[in-house]
Amino acid sequence: MSDEGAGREAQIASGLSAVRERIAAACHGAGRATHEVRLVVVTKTFPASDVRILAALGCTDVGENRDQEARAKRAELGPAADAVRWHMIGQLQRNKARSVAQWADVVESVDRVELAEALSRAAVSVGRRLDALVQVSLDARPDAGRGGADPLQVPALARAMAALPGLRLAGVMAVAPHPGDPDEAFARLAEVAQGLRPLVDGELVVSAGMSDDLEQAVAHGATQVRIGGAILGNRSALG
Ligand SMILES: *Cc1c(COP(=O)(O)O)cnc(C)c1O
Repeated sequence: MSDEGAGREAQIASGLSAVRERIAAACHGAGRATHEVRLVVVTKTFPASDVRILAALGCTDVGENRDQEARAKRAELGPAADAVRWHMIGQLQRNKARSVAQWADVVESVDRVELAEALSRAAVSVGRRLDALVQVSLDARPDAGRGGADPLQVPALARAMAALPGLRLAGVMAVAPHPGDPDEAFARLAEVAQGLRPLVDGELVVSAGMSDDLEQAVAHGATQVRIGGAILGNRSALG
């Protein structure tokens, strides 16, 4: 590996171990086992070579928020890309469903029935079944533009998703509103998640917590955190 590559690997390894320690401490504080919380490393804006490094360091899941960028990275890595599960975590237009169904293993940002139906059709047409999370809006005004279903609409959306052949309903995802109280937001998410319990086979995924608020998310029962900056460094303003 080049000096540059080795430097990047050391940098990522150090961010990763710091975040793993934070997760372990948060689990300990909440009386939970560390293995109850899965780490999704958010690789948006970072190159495919970082995904390769992450996989070599034992990471099992990566998150991306743009269809084109993610599809290109997965293609660039070839068969090596299959070492990790690819999560779509960004807002998604229905006309991208066909493309996303080819590279994503998990779609975390399903917030309306039409999108769920388009993803299911696309997945079936390529012989796949996608894990799907309902993105829940925790904004006081659910129209703030970040996406996510109003908590009141989540039960109906979840029932619709559970009935679609190309999706496997797995749980919920949310981003804590800023400004706002993350504890309040994640407590609300935990309540909404419980409503899905009867519809989900196996583990009920609660995807919550980012670089700045993973401790609060874990305290409120998150089973999955999505961490970018704290592992990979600062993104450009666009990220
Ligand atoms: C970018 C992003 C993250 C990661 O955020 P960091 O602050 O870099 O940890 C998590 N979730 C979603 C939905 C994102 O868009």
